[in-house]
Amino acid sequence: MRKPIIAGNWKMNKTPEEAAELVKALVPAVKGADCDVVVCVPAVCFAAVMEAAKGSNIRLGAQNVHFAKSGAYTGELSVDMLTACGVEYVVIGHSERRQYFGETDATVNLRVKAAVAGGLTPIVCVGEKKEERENGYTDAIVEYQTRMALTGLTGEQISALVIAYEPVWAIGTGLTATDEQANETISVIRKAIARQYGQHVADAVRIQYGGSMNPGNVKGLMAQPEIDGGLIGGASLKAPDFTAVVMYNK
Ligand code: PEP
Repeated sequence: MRKPIIAGNWKMNKTPEEAAELVKALVPAVKGADCDVVVCVPAVCFAAVMEAAKGSNIRLGAQNVHFAKSGAYTGELSVDMLTACGVEYVVIGHSERRQYFGETDATVNLRVKAAVAGGLTPIVCVGEKKEERENGYTDAIVEYQTRMALTGLTGEQISALVIAYEPVWAIGTGLTATDEQANETISVIRKAIARQYGQHVADAVRIQYGGSMNPGNVKGLMAQPEIDGGLIGGASLKAPDFTAVVMYNK
């Protein structure tokens, strides 16, 4: 049995003060959650979130990481810097990074390998664009992105990480994949992992759905057998909404 994992992706939102306020509201509200709960926050909020989440079941995540140990990479953050701040999870290859910041499958792979080697759990994002789905390329795209992202990792390492299937057309748009579409594409990803790394790895790896998941659609999506949680953007910014998503089965 895979334990579901629900992660908020705050993107470029919240000052440290606002972050503390949100997490303080979440701490008692998500206390009895049956899933792993993560908030992936801007780096300037790490300290405030760690302090506010102390002793709770809320874990800290980052939204990107560089693959070099250290060096002349202005504006970047290394794995060691993140872990030193209490970060346990890191979103890698989000479609906004791919679209606006030139992220490629090759750099996603470098980041995933560095994160795993340094003890962070990657949340690896894959997903097709609208025109790719319309032209019937969804399965090929997600399979390719997944294989590229995981190249060079062992089956054991893959078992322990998280993949987020995020159809690009559903992110921040209010459009959601249907429960069946999300389940079907996640099943394609899981089968590709099974073919390459074995059924035991595919059975262990957690694959989230992301794309306008919210209190209104979470139950249906989470009822699908292949969906092991969610990566939540907009609905993670308000305590009542994120609570309702995290506590979907209560
Ligand atoms: C995301 O940013 O990963 C995401 C799924 O955003 P939203 O929930 O706002 O669509």
